[in-house]
Amino acid sequence: MDADVIIIGSGAGGGTLARALASSGLSILILERGDYLPREPANWDAETVFNTNRYHTGVDPQQSVFDPTCRSHEFDNLYVADASFMPSISAVNPSLTIMANALRVAEILRHRLGAA
Ligand SMILES: Cc1cc2nc3c(=O)[nH]c(=O)nc-3n(C[C@H](O)[C@H](O)[C@H](O)COP(=O)(O)OP(=O)(O)OC[C@H]3O[C@@H](n4cnc5c(N)ncnc54)[C@H](O)[C@@H]3O)c2cc1C
Repeated sequence: MDADVIIIGSGAGGGTLARALASSGLSILILERGDYLPREPANWDAETVFNTNRYHTGVDPQQSVFDPTCRSHEFDNLYVADASFMPSISAVNPSLTIMANALRVAEILRHRLGAA
């Protein structure tokens, strides 16, 4: 199976990225594990929902996992477009910021892949 872009997870970030690339002419494969998030304590804990699983972005590979374009320092064709690009929790609900960044990553990918 060939795809120009493989998006893992179709939540706020991945879904926005897919929508933004839909008209690009690129072939896109979305891998979604599904189901709805179960109502387990860990999934409804504010610390888990808003504050964990963050990567640092920055220009220095020694200090960060992803560069300012959300591309991995280690793997040239790996980007993050979900909440993990935020190094810490925002002062307000994060979803719109996550979606805005996913749109930014979509533009970066369009440019890099020579898409419309
Ligand atoms: C109960 C609750 C209430 C919230 N309320 C608000 C709110 O009011 N306002 C707000 O801004 N934010 C809210 N949030 C936070 C918001 O939902 C998240 O910050 C946002 O969804 C994160 O976006 P994301 O793209 O990083 O991840 P998600 O939206 O969680 O998307 C991740 C996707 O990846 C999929 N996935 C995971 N692992 C794999 C895998 N191995 N393979 C394939 N797919 C996989 C998941 O199924 C999911 O679809 C809430 C969160 C919860 C849990």
